[in-house]
Amino acid sequence: MTGITIESGPLGEKVIRCAWLVNPGDAPRQNVRVTIVDGRVAEICDVPGDELSQVADVAMMPAFVNGHTHLEFSQLASPLLPSAPFPDWIRSVVRYRSANSDREQFATDCIRAGLHESHAAGVRLIGEISTTQGSVTALQQALEEAGNAGVSFRELIGFSADQVSTQLQVAERHVATTPTSGRKSGEQKFVRGLSPHAPYSVHPELFEGIVDIARQTAAPVAIHLAETVDEVELLQNQTGRFVDFLQSLNLWEPQTLPRGTTPLRYLEKLAQAERALAVHGNYFGPAEISFLARNPHVAVVYCPRTHAYFGHTPHPWQQLQDAGAVVLLGTDSRASNPDLSVWKELQFVANQKKAAPIWELLPMITTSAAVALGFNGEDFKVNVGNRFQSVSVPCECDSESRLNAVLLRSAEATEVSP
Ligand SMILES: [Zn+2]
Repeated sequence: MTGITIESGPLGEKVIRCAWLVNPGDAPRQNVRVTIVDGRVAEICDVPGDELSQVADVAMMPAFVNGHTHLEFSQLASPLLPSAPFPDWIRSVVRYRSANSDREQFATDCIRAGLHESHAAGVRLIGEISTTQGSVTALQQALEEAGNAGVSFRELIGFSADQVSTQLQVAERHVATTPTSGRKSGEQKFVRGLSPHAPYSVHPELFEGIVDIARQTAAPVAIHLAETVDEVELLQNQTGRFVDFLQSLNLWEPQTLPRGTTPLRYLEKLAQAERALAVHGNYFGPAEISFLARNPHVAVVYCPRTHAYFGHTPHPWQQLQDAGAVVLLGTDSRASNPDLSVWKELQFVANQKKAAPIWELLPMITTSAAVALGFNGEDFKVNVGNRFQSVSVPCECDSESRLNAVLLRSAEATEVSP
């Protein structure tokens, strides 16, 4: 059978038979029958011989997590240009934002469209960067309507010293109502976090103040870090393209960044928060990798196709994982990516040289990713007792030895809704 069918049993239970069950970190199971009672997985067993004709040619997986995105760009048909040099791409982002800044409804529509696209691609938990109060509200409403969970990381930007106090007030207001419990039990679906944008757009005192607020309120933090060679040069030597960029905006102050600053300096402060995301980390070196291995509550969000769009040198995700650091995946936005499918991000990673089979990488968009955002990882595994939330991909394959190759080429994931 090609499509998945869901059968209702005499006691209201739902039964699904799939060719493969692919769970994060586990060996795949062939010909599996899953029984769901009251929205939870009641039983997982082999399909009995007389039911084999009812098995759907699909691989079933848990629902996905997208660790990092900016839904405000969700109505872009293609990524913004130019992709290099990076500060010129930032200028395109700023132009796009200011052209639409008086259109609150447009921003709301973009967020709804992006969440709809994500939901259709199997995402049930999202780490979103929110740039205005209106976009926070829009995200919260869209999540409620879809029954999805998410973190609204309020973006804070201010490279000059006179912007520090107003941005800290924005941060304080955003997390003022953050409950500190409930996420892990799955009760709480909307979480408020903070996002100091990046070292080239946030004054060091503002960054420190934001992490202090996060520490006091248990809010998660996300910062774009070590994304480009230009950023590393700015931190290290206070020279290069970002100095020109900041000068052109009348924001450059040579004393703002101490000479010899490194991404490690930012990670050390981030580690004071209960949970933090270092987004990108494209140019993390041995010192950062070793620190992240010792501090798994600071996770790295690798955005594979965005990384490729900007033509960076190979990402150190495998060195990070080998050292024991946590790496999850994000789509970033449609300003640098063709769509919001985190499954396609995983396929992109699994197609790289020396990559493990897809089921060993699956935690990057399920269990590990959920934990990195402060949620219950078990909700992103199809296991007896867990809430059932699942996706499937077409999968005509009768042996485990070919399964990884089939999954690498398989079509988009779609929701399994019993
Ligand atoms: Zn981003």
